[in-house]
Amino acid sequence: MIPVNEPLLNGNEKKYLAECIDSGWISSEGPFVKKFESSFAQRVGRRHGIAVSNGTAALDIAVESLGIGAGDEVIMPAFTIISCIGQIIRSGAKPVLVDSDAGTWNMDINQIEAAITSKTKAIMVVHIFGLPVDIDPVLQLAEKYNLKIIEDASQMHGQLYKGKPCGSFGDISTFSFYPNKHITTGEGGMVLTDDDLLAETCQSLRNLCFQPDKRFVHERLGWNYRMTNLQAALGSAQLERLDEFVRIKRNMGKRYSELLNHIDGLQLPLAKTDYADNIYWVYGLVLGKNSGLDALQAMKRLGEKGIGCRPFFCPMHQQPILKKMGLFKGESYPEAERLYKQGFYIPSGMALTEEQMIQVSNAVKDILK
Ligand SMILES: *Cc1c(COP(=O)(O)O)cnc(C)c1O
Repeated sequence: MIPVNEPLLNGNEKKYLAECIDSGWISSEGPFVKKFESSFAQRVGRRHGIAVSNGTAALDIAVESLGIGAGDEVIMPAFTIISCIGQIIRSGAKPVLVDSDAGTWNMDINQIEAAITSKTKAIMVVHIFGLPVDIDPVLQLAEKYNLKIIEDASQMHGQLYKGKPCGSFGDISTFSFYPNKHITTGEGGMVLTDDDLLAETCQSLRNLCFQPDKRFVHERLGWNYRMTNLQAALGSAQLERLDEFVRIKRNMGKRYSELLNHIDGLQLPLAKTDYADNIYWVYGLVLGKNSGLDALQAMKRLGEKGIGCRPFFCPMHQQPILKKMGLFKGESYPEAERLYKQGFYIPSGMALTEEQMIQVSNAVKDILK
């Protein structure tokens, strides 16, 4: 079986973890947390990094820190992970969806302005799969309408937009360090911002909003979303190798694209756009309508050949739980729907070998014959 993801943990991971055990520092109070926060923030070119327990937590905190709540609207892509929408809904705000671009699979930025109303408070930009959103025009809209930008860069560690790090554009930006991301802490996430006050709010929200002088007296509801020293030790070791990991992913993408080129009706990831080279967080495939297979059928056939695959995201307006809540009634986002129905990704982990890529590509060709 070729797993859909396998991380590389053969740098300083063991050494730094052993330091945690030997010193007894295993909680969020340990020294690796601050070290990881500052080195990651520096890498992304931001003043503040707030390490948290996972990428979903980072998004929860980002939304809450901006004071988003009842009466507010937040514009976001239909095609993304459920993590993006959770706190928008729980806060009582209204998520407003935008369809995807057929080529990059990112939110179609040309549809954003029409979605802005007097209630819009923020735009959540989510960079999908390996190519960043064309963010300059989105920043211009934010400026024009006085909106906040939440930038979810969970799939973009080490990626640049016009030469500037992804994660450096939002009023507040978030990352995940789940094991299938470019660097991992097992579970983990980070909130980044340049705003001192926002950073302080995020630090408080992650730590139950304890108060320094009256510790168990609370003026606001937060979460325990703290990152442990063990996670940060892993992250510190992984971050040392980020450039190498980005090279590995770019080579993987290039190699898959050579191997899978010229298959009729099979859409591959774009190698680049005017503003970025693909970083291939995952290598996605979108089947043509005339291929005779949809994503579910293709993944089943590939699974029988020992190839681990994962489906693309189910769009927000098609989520049973959100429909049950009465959201997105009668709305349709054809590109997001196409990506969900026809799209899936093949093994794309850091430890993937050349032999495995050939085996995967042959299996894909086989099922599409
Ligand atoms: C992985 C991911 C998340 C969620 O991160 P977790 O650490 O799994 O909670 C959020 N947004 C995007 C775009 C992601 O890829």
